[in-house]
Amino acid sequence: MAMEIRRVTVLGTGVLGSQIAYQTAFHGFEVTAYDIDDAVLAAGRSRFDALAAAYRAEVPGGGDGKAEQTAADIVLVADLGAAVRDADLVIEAVPEVLEIKQEIYAKLSELAPERTIFATNSSTLLPSAIKDATGRPDRFLALHFANQVWKRNTAEIMGSPDTDPEVFRTVSEFAQAIGMVPIELHKEKAGYVLNSLLVPLLRAAMELSADGYAEPATVDETWRIATGAPVGPFQILDVIGLTTPYNIMVHGDEQGRRFAAWLKENYIDKGKLGIATGEGFYRYSED
Ligand code: NAD
Repeated sequence: MAMEIRRVTVLGTGVLGSQIAYQTAFHGFEVTAYDIDDAVLAAGRSRFDALAAAYRAEVPGGGDGKAEQTAADIVLVADLGAAVRDADLVIEAVPEVLEIKQEIYAKLSELAPERTIFATNSSTLLPSAIKDATGRPDRFLALHFANQVWKRNTAEIMGSPDTDPEVFRTVSEFAQAIGMVPIELHKEKAGYVLNSLLVPLLRAAMELSADGYAEPATVDETWRIATGAPVGPFQILDVIGLTTPYNIMVHGDEQGRRFAAWLKENYIDKGKLGIATGEGFYRYSED
């Protein structure tokens, strides 16, 4: 690695933070996980135990006690200063609220050693919006994971114009070292690569069905046959879960609000939220 990364601190033990911490520990790094208080950390501990079960079942090398040992090796800390004191890399996965992120980076800039690299997992905020709060814009960038990191193992890497190229390279090599496929962006783009492709596709699919042009199954069938893709946009929506796009579109433009209303009336209000509830656009069997 261009710069040595051995000790990694993850801020936030929620959905993504717990997965990032676990995946990093599974690949042999020393991991500290920080969250706001002991009660939240206890929930984080349960998330690590649940991840251990998933890795044991689904990830090669997760057997023979390794998955459980990985969970046990993660150090949980509610004191930010103690959490980052020796960190080579801090990966931030706190709520997607600019003020919360800016506040935590302002504290970090004081508490972390000068060498420490900061990476945000933000899905929608550009590094440029956060960089000034870090006090070290040259050592700050985005490292964006996807939910279920052990299966959907892309890591999108995106710097601001101030990011040091060596820091960028180090983080890309780190991503590879924890089993991710690094997806490098040359400049900032809202949505990175994946959502720049996926969001317009999902929206176009919803337009076809919400506005009455074609059934969801017809849309998916067309996409699968004509492009060779294994799944269509509505199958992808069932995996994501319908509430996430609903929550985004309900606050969006006129067309988005119309699609949100369609999702709510026809699916969400009927408990059809996607694979997680056994039915969304499609019905799924128990097994
Ligand atoms: P989450 O709500 O599940 O977890 C956030 C965690 O941060 C919680 O444990 C919370 O206690 C903690 N937290 C709250 N305030 C804090 C503070 N001031 N300091 C430190 N920790 C604090 O959220 P999430 O879904 O894991 O998302 C976290 C980040 O990851 C967001 O930036 C989001 O855009 C990004 N992300 C989420 C997903 C996803 O599918 N959920 C995918 C990719 C990226």
